[in-house]
Amino acid sequence: MIQFYNTLTRKKEPFNPIEKGKVSLYTCGPTVYDEAHIGNFRTFMFEDLLKRVLMLNGLDVFHVMNITDVDDKTIKRAKETAQPLQALTENYTQKFHEDLKWLKMLPADEYPCATHHVSGMIKMIESLIKKEHAYVEDDGSVYFKVNSFSKYGQLSNIKFEDQKVTERIGSDEYSKESAQDFALWKGWKPDDGEVAWDSPWGKGRPGWHIECSSMSMEYLGDHFDIHCGGVDNMFPHHENEIAQSQCHAGSSFVNVWLHSEHLMVEGGKMSKSEGNIYTVSELKAKGFTPEIIRYQLLSGHYRTKINFSLAKKQEGEKIVKRLSEFKSRLESFDLENVTLDENPTIYSEFVKNLSNDLDTPNALAIFFDFMKKMNRQMDKGSIDKEQVASSLYFLDKFDSVFGLIPRTGKVPEEIVKLVRRREQARNIKDWNESDNLRDKIDALGWKVKDTASGSEISKKSA
Ligand SMILES: [Zn+2]
Repeated sequence: MIQFYNTLTRKKEPFNPIEKGKVSLYTCGPTVYDEAHIGNFRTFMFEDLLKRVLMLNGLDVFHVMNITDVDDKTIKRAKETAQPLQALTENYTQKFHEDLKWLKMLPADEYPCATHHVSGMIKMIESLIKKEHAYVEDDGSVYFKVNSFSKYGQLSNIKFEDQKVTERIGSDEYSKESAQDFALWKGWKPDDGEVAWDSPWGKGRPGWHIECSSMSMEYLGDHFDIHCGGVDNMFPHHENEIAQSQCHAGSSFVNVWLHSEHLMVEGGKMSKSEGNIYTVSELKAKGFTPEIIRYQLLSGHYRTKINFSLAKKQEGEKIVKRLSEFKSRLESFDLENVTLDENPTIYSEFVKNLSNDLDTPNALAIFFDFMKKMNRQMDKGSIDKEQVASSLYFLDKFDSVFGLIPRTGKVPEEIVKLVRRREQARNIKDWNESDNLRDKIDALGWKVKDTASGSEISKKSA
């Protein structure tokens, strides 16, 4: 059984996809006005984890992530840097894709850009006006009438006092704790420069919230399974999405809403003045690998605040090294004619924990305990080949979720055999033969190191 904590009901609930075996997933993507930072990547990493866990359960996931390439922030930054909006957003969209790939995240099936979908947004706004959920202002802006939707506030639990909803808000982001009529369409202002589309209400541009409502429904239908984002997206962004979408389609919008908590960096909130807004490029320059970053972001539960710290780099390195060593140890066994038990109890336990609202801390603990046990058995020489085979199976599944083992080329069979022969020679203390074999391995471009837990094979650097 898969269970998720649904923000909408504030309960953990069994997850049942609308269409059997398939999951429709929408995740709010980046606003491409700058490089994404480690806090943004915590959210994207949680969504990647969610997707991998659904896949581990045999579900076929269709994932849409939007790219916000027009909004208040992008327009402001383009103006500040004196470049056309498109040049700015294309540059950061490309950087975002490079970062995702480097962090070993699975790509989404679709990455719709807001600027390519404005006509769909205009249609949706027209429908909302027709159904009297929206109204046009004198400046050509269109606002959503918050008190026309009695369920407004259901996601974020904000107080809804309908007499007070008289204020209108033109900004995409606001943090006031009361409901306000928000902009669906923003009439053109001189600050917008050349950024404008024609609409029935004159020149203008869409508001941020309508972008996600319109694109998610275009790609996934009026009613789909899961919508995610960071906790800061809950209000007003997701609350407004629900209002727009439900009023437009007249039906349910999304079944399950999942939100990841904030990331703390060096023990505090990320801020420019603290100098702790790390980008992927900066972390790369400081010697972080994708695996070390993945470990830091995935070792805490997604609904808790976790702390990212440069000082934790060594800890991550150690874990990654231990996993790689475990893998090469297991791979050095000859597993010809061994039947594989594909469902050892320990593996089921691991899947059960991940499927329980993505409990990564417990799933990691289960795997590390298992690894310790298997290493001990290998040290004593008391492991049997069936155990090696099922350990490799478990390790492979483990890494399909966590992605903590660096991709090195598989050690060629020829080398594995030489290493094995060398181990046998060492066991009978035939040091001459052992040295000869080491030379042969060396000549073929590989390095063998003797460690307390056995031979460690690595490719010699060029
Ligand atoms: Zn969104």
